Amino acid sequence: MPRDIKARRVCSIPDNLRFIPEGCSKELTVITVEEVESLRLCDLESMDQDTAAGLMNISRGTLQRILYSAHRKIAEALCRGREIQIKGGCFELSEERCKGEKGCSYCCFRLKEINSIQGDAEDDRK
Ligand SMILES: [Zn+2]
Repeated sequence: MPRDIKARRVCSIPDNLRFIPEGCSKELTVITVEEVESLRLCDLESMDQDTAAGLMNISRGTLQRILYSAHRKIAEALCRGREIQIKGGCFELSEERCKGEKGCSYCCFRLKEINSIQGDAEDDRK
């Protein structure tokens, strides 16, 4: 396995890292953080793969491979009643908002949140 994989840029770490089925599950499906990020950008935010790849700082081919792997794992977990755990991968959490023409809504939301917090602080001083 190549050791020099470029870190994939992610905007967020999911709030919940474990999903446990109601029935008993003997097996575990582990999904990496960047796989979840690819699902969030492409499936939840309906971005095209080129845009999502740009935000994650990877090629379209790599994005596609990560996304398909995520789809397969989710399908496997849902169909076979497996527990899902989000863990590991090769990623770095972005400290700033997505660059490019189109940022993701999470970043926009977070930016708005930060602005409103700063705005409130200024209002208090007046
Ligand atoms: Zn973002």
